[in-house]
Amino acid sequence: MPTPADTIATLQRLGAHNYQPLDVVLTRGEGVWLWDVEGNKYLDCLSAYSAVNQGHCHPRILQAMTEQAQRLTLTSRAFRNDQLALLYEELAELTGSAKILPMNSGAEAVESGVKAARKWGYEERGIPESEAEVIVCEDNFHGRTISIVSFSTDPMARNGFGPFTPGFRVVPFGDIDALRAAINPKTAAFLVEPIQGEAGVNIPPPGYFRQVREVCTERGVTLILDEIQTGLGRTGRLLAEEHEGIEADMTLVGKALSGGFYPVSAVLSNENVLGVLKPGEHGSTFGGNPLAAAVARTALRVLIDEGMIENSAALGAYFLGRLREIRSDKVKEARGRGLMLAIELEADAGPAKAVVLALKDRGVLAKDTHGSTIRISPPLVITRDQVDWAVEQIEHALA
Ligand SMILES: *Cc1c(COP(=O)(O)O)cnc(C)c1O
Repeated sequence: MPTPADTIATLQRLGAHNYQPLDVVLTRGEGVWLWDVEGNKYLDCLSAYSAVNQGHCHPRILQAMTEQAQRLTLTSRAFRNDQLALLYEELAELTGSAKILPMNSGAEAVESGVKAARKWGYEERGIPESEAEVIVCEDNFHGRTISIVSFSTDPMARNGFGPFTPGFRVVPFGDIDALRAAINPKTAAFLVEPIQGEAGVNIPPPGYFRQVREVCTERGVTLILDEIQTGLGRTGRLLAEEHEGIEADMTLVGKALSGGFYPVSAVLSNENVLGVLKPGEHGSTFGGNPLAAAVARTALRVLIDEGMIENSAALGAYFLGRLREIRSDKVKEARGRGLMLAIELEADAGPAKAVVLALKDRGVLAKDTHGSTIRISPPLVITRDQVDWAVEQIEHALA
């Protein structure tokens, strides 16, 4: 048996160093819990960046996956399969979408949404060919492809990866006047996260998204909400757009769409925007495969049937309240919505990474971001006792 140190050495020697993970070697997960190879148990407060909202190895999703895997896994979209229609129906019913495009990773959903929005801009809005613009926000995170990093404002995501894809314009997040001023006759779409997750759980001012919806409707701009992280219960609603009672023209979902079993993403659209795609213009070998469809359909059912969205709202509010009660001069602010939470440290409190390491030693796995923020996003099946226990560990780790 290799020791954890052997495993880490192999990972470092043979793997690209595009991540700097905590040195914990995990081997098993169940619900909110993870175990390392030495048998230490941890409360997962990252949920694979919100891809395991349903909890690790959820038995119903596991069953759907193994049953479907024994029957049919992949046909490609050259033929039809009997599972995809069932996923479409589930998604359409839950989200009110009229057209759906299944993909695999989140980045592919973003790329697909931008492609469709550009084409819609040319065909429906008469934007001159190859001149469409998409407005995005400062500090956005939408994935890692060349086109997506082309409109990132994070130097680490961009530097050394040019030349970049043109056609993007950046405005500050949460600033409706800046959005208004940036829109011009070539603007096809506004692509935005309801809450900026990777940037440190940035919540825009109340009413921002109602105004965004109004401005986009008024100016004929496609509103694309990237709900890959905020969606599927994370913020206490199925989609975060519901907090302001709006509907995007296109909504991107991924991550928890499979409950963490398998990469499944989708573009959810009104009739018009995805309606511009014709046979041969876009595709994916694995997108919409029967295994993905069966897993995703069950992952959605589980969220609804087991009250996970309500639990996210109730325990998120409770968790945030408890975090705000922590008396520590290291803490600048605790913020969040549902179970998408963060603690921001004071500038002189030292690196958030030190707190994250102390948390690991106390059996809580969380992730620092941008030096001073600790993100806390446990699976949506967390209980009140587990929240209380986590808060106790956070208090100790801060001390
Ligand atoms: C994770 C994430 C993505 C990218 O998803 P991948 O599956 O890693 O490609 C895009 N947008 C947001 C908001 C995300 O959190």
